[in-house]
Parts: sequence; C-alpha cells; structure tokens
Amino acid sequence: MIIVQLIGKVQPEFWARALNSMAIKEVDVIVVGAGFGGLRALHALRQQGKKVQVIEASEDVGGVWHHNGYPGARCDVESYDYSYSFSPELEQQWVWSERYATQPEILRYIRHVVERFDMRKDIRFNCRMERAQYDAQGGRWAVACSDGSLWSAHYLVLAVGQLSSPKTPSLPGQDKFGGQIIHSALWPKEPVSFAGKRVAIIGTGSSGMQMTPVIARQAAHLTVFQRTPNYSVPAANAPVSPEEDRQVKANYRQRREQAWNSPTGLGFLPGKKSALEASPQERAEVYEAAWSRLGYGFALTYFDILLNKEANDTAAEFIRQKIASVIEKPQLREKLVPRDHAFAARRPSVDDGYFQAFNRDNVQLVDVRETPIVELTASGIRTQTEEHHLDTIIFATGFDAFTGSLLKPEIIGREGLTLKQKWAAGPVTHLGVGTAGFPNLFVLVGPGSPSLLSNVMVSIEEQSDWFAQMIHFMDLHGVREVEVTQAAEQAWVAHVNARAQETLYLTADSYYNGAEVAGKPRVFMPYTGGVRGYRRLLRKCADHGYEGFAMRDQPLDSGGQILNSGAGVADVAPRDFAAVLVGDADGVQR
Ligand code: NAP
Repeated sequence: MIIVQLIGKVQPEFWARALNSMAIKEVDVIVVGAGFGGLRALHALRQQGKKVQVIEASEDVGGVWHHNGYPGARCDVESYDYSYSFSPELEQQWVWSERYATQPEILRYIRHVVERFDMRKDIRFNCRMERAQYDAQGGRWAVACSDGSLWSAHYLVLAVGQLSSPKTPSLPGQDKFGGQIIHSALWPKEPVSFAGKRVAIIGTGSSGMQMTPVIARQAAHLTVFQRTPNYSVPAANAPVSPEEDRQVKANYRQRREQAWNSPTGLGFLPGKKSALEASPQERAEVYEAAWSRLGYGFALTYFDILLNKEANDTAAEFIRQKIASVIEKPQLREKLVPRDHAFAARRPSVDDGYFQAFNRDNVQLVDVRETPIVELTASGIRTQTEEHHLDTIIFATGFDAFTGSLLKPEIIGREGLTLKQKWAAGPVTHLGVGTAGFPNLFVLVGPGSPSLLSNVMVSIEEQSDWFAQMIHFMDLHGVREVEVTQAAEQAWVAHVNARAQETLYLTADSYYNGAEVAGKPRVFMPYTGGVRGYRRLLRKCADHGYEGFAMRDQPLDSGGQILNSGAGVADVAPRDFAAVLVGDADGVQR
C-alpha cells in the first residue's frame, strides 16, 4: 500500500532507484538528525521501548556542532547547563574544562554520550531524508533517503535544527575568486591555516564576532565586512576549577530546577524591578556587576529590558559606552557601536575580544552599507571604493533559520499537501510541536516553541520527554493516529503573536521574524512566553488528555474515531509579558 502510494505521488525514477536498492524497513519511529536534539529524542523513545532509527545526512553525530568548526567557536550557554540532564551519572562523571565550552569539547561530549548509551547502532549516517509521505489509510510515514533506503515508521520526528541550513549570499563573480571560500557553518574538517594569509570575514553575528579575534591573531591581514553592528557582552569565560566543579555537582539537581524554571532556561530569573524604577547610579552598578559576570543573562538584569524601549535604552546605552571604551580609533567607534535596534531585539553576541581586535594594525573594517560589495574578483572583493586582495573569504552570513531545514525535504501530509505548501505564509504549529494535516509527525524545537529564545538544551529535553510520554499514552489508550487540530494551531499562532507583541522583538529585522532571507514570510517564529511557562503549557495539554491534538483509534481515512476531546484548544489567553518573564504563561501566579 505504502509503496503504491509513494510511487503514485513522487518522482518515479527516484522510487525506482530506491526500490531497486533496498526493501522497505519497518521501525516505530524515524528521527531525522543526530545532533543534540535527535540523540535526546532517541534516548527518550528508547525508554518507551520503541524501535527507533535515526537518520543523519552527515558522516557523524553532532549536528551544528559537527559542522560549525570555525576558529573560536564555543557555546554562549554555560557548559553545565548546555548538557543533558537525563543521566545523573553522566552529569557527575563528565568534566567540563571551561565555563563556556569550545566546539571541540562539545563534540567530545556528544560522542561520549553516543558511545556511553550505545546510540551509534541506531544511527544511519550519510543518509539524508529526501521525502516523507504520510499513508493516510495505514497511519504510517514512508520515508525515502538519499542513500536509496526506504523506511516505514509509525512516527516521524524532525530534529533537524533551527540553525542548520547555512545561508550564502550570491555575490556577482563568486565563481571567479581564485582563493578559498568557506562558510562558518560548513567548516572544513581538515585544519585551515591563516598564517601569512589575507582573510575576509563577511558577517558580524555571533559566528563572525567569535572568529574575528582568533583569526586576527593568526592572519597577516583581516578585513571584516559589516552590514549591521551587533550588540555583544563579554563572555566572562574561565577555566572550571576542581572546587567549582565539585560545588556544581553537589547541587546539580537544584541547578537544573532553576534552569527549567527560568524564562530562558539559563537559570537566571529576571530582576523584579523595572530599569526605570532604578536610579541612574543604581542601574550603573547593576549593569557593571552583570557586565563582567552574566554573559547573556545581562538582558535579564531588569525585567523590562525586552519589554519597554525606554528601559531598553538604559541597557543599550551602557553597552554602547562599554563597546566604545575599548575601541581606540574614533572613526571605528562610530561604525562598530550598534545604534539601529534595541538591545537583544536581535540575537546579541557574547564575545571574547571582538571589539578590541579592531585596535590591531592588521585588522580593517568595511561597512558594506557605506561601501557595498560590488563583486568578487579573481583575487578578492571589490567594493564601490576599493579592491581588497584576499586569499580566503569566510561567509559568516548565518542561516535560513527555523524553517530552512524543515522545508528542504519534501514532506507530504494528508491529501498530497506538502509542508512547504502548508507553511507558504509562515509556519503554523500547535505548541511548536505539530501541525494539522501531518499526523504522527513531531517537530523538535520547532517554530512556535521557545527554541532559539531558550537554552535549547532545556527545550530539547522537555519536548523529547513530552513526545515520548505522549506516545506512551497513545499506546496505553489504543491510539493509532494523533493530529493537531486546526482550531488549536490557529489559537496557538495567535497566542505566539500576541506574546511577541508585548516585547521589543518585533521592532527589529532579524531571523526571529524571517528577515534574514529575502522573500521569506515575515512571521515571528519563536515563543516568547518563557521556558517555564511553556513547560507548564505542555504539561497542561497532557493533563487535559492532549487537548488540541485529535487522537484516533484508527487513521481518519480508515474510519478512525476520536478518543480524546480532540477539538479542545489550549487555554492560552495572552497575559502581560512581565508575568511571563517570571514564568506565568499559563496564568498561574507564583
Ligand atoms: P547571524 O547571526 O545570522 O549573522 C549573520 C551575519 O551575516 C549578520 O551580521 C548579517 O548582517 C551578515 N550578512 C548576511 N548576509 C550578508 C550579506 N549579503 N552581506 C553582508 N553581510 C551579510 O549568523 P551567525 O553569526 O552564524 O549566528 C547565528 C546564530 O547561531 C546566533 O544568533 C546564535 O543563535 C547561534 N550561534 C551561537 C553561538 C554560540 O553559542 N556562541 C555561536 C555562533 C552562532 P545583518 O545583521 O545586516 O543581516
């Protein structure tokens, strides 16, 4: 049945190849992606006794951490919090060397987890999901992969990452450049030497800002092409001392609880005061203390920094002065200090000497708004005013965020509707985990969930366990098909938008709202209601028999009947964001 349907609906030559090479393999769940998300989903689903197949396009585990190997790459969430919480033994035994781990150390951790929990045997590498089609009568997903393998699974979990589809500008003459072009998110596995080289970095988001000081120390000359100056706070990185390690591990559960119950999953609770209630002197003291200690937590020193422009201005001005104070050349200060958007309305960076790098004689800044890039030549980049001779050009130009990797494969739901068609005007989900018309499909940290506004590790673990428990519930109650209702997803999208409107996020163009890709629908995608509030909404949904999800004893197309209330819509009346920041998204007072 599945084969007949697939052959009927998608390109015959593809299926001929697939069918010739291998028979369909049956599993309970296909998980797409072997990054932190896919591996955690594998663990949670195995706990429910499910036969899981993880498929991974690249040759090894790690997802973005496998690919983003650029110099200086490290996490801006503290290592102890950017790690799995499901195994106390793992927590106790793994030793982090730095407060913010480097990419190689994170990759070592991922590989350790994979070996320790014997995950590799359930992962198929060099296998990209090209198509997935729902068999509406059988209630199963048929999945076709680049290596010719074909799978049939009851559930499909998309753990493809929100920042995993690298975005490269197409500049005139790009094919003429005779040197090396590298994207920060597709970093070569072999060592890249910058010694004696003339290097360009295009892009000054987190990746560009992290690599600039490191490459500046190695290269003969570095030119940074900046379009939008970005806010950044110091990383305050340091080695972890044995005493600190002991202290964290003695109280690890408490630390996790704090992270789960904080707005961003970083463990910081927002200040209870408005920035505008504090005197200028008090503010200066609070900001100064946070500056050298809190990293990304700086944005939560007062609860209204992301809610009120005037409050935000106080933080933004403090940061501008800090940035300006370390840049020696006045004309560079003017260009590097961010002024055109509110602090943290776009993702700020956490850096280690980015602005100071411009004090070096071998580092140059090109403001592409002032002098746009005209073309790449055989030997470099020509702007409107000069040619920069280069050996290496690095695109640190970011990603097609949130939906890029979800929309690459052809995913076909009911009645031949593709996910691309369904989301043509922007992604529509219920709770960020599923979408109507695509039964038995779960999205991990998808649009409509806190995802990129949270410590993503917290969100990954929360959702993986939630899916796994939902599947357990379905098994217990004889449910064969689960599907988001249209009413629920409409209510959730309205709620996500209402919440976003309470914040300053909508005042800036950013990848949060699709501005990073020309022609992409301008829709605000992450959920701003906070990790704690979101967690409570997930629980409430489950406690109410998975309201907003129709659960059927058989697939709808085979005459299935709804077993739960199905049509119920999560009670998500918008509340003020200040309450959300302390975690009351579901209306429960603390
Ligand atoms: P990004 O934040 O999207 O930054 C892309 C940069 O490229 C921006 O400065 C952008 O300018 C510029 N750009 C894009 N197209 C351009 C063009 N045609 N010409 C000139 N400039 C262009 O991407 P990212 O730095 O890779 O970071 C993405 C996200 O990954 C971060 O926000 C963060 O969530 C995550 N990340 C985290 C870490 C960490 O944990 N420390 C490290 C790296 C990345 P505009 O701003 O003008 O668009």
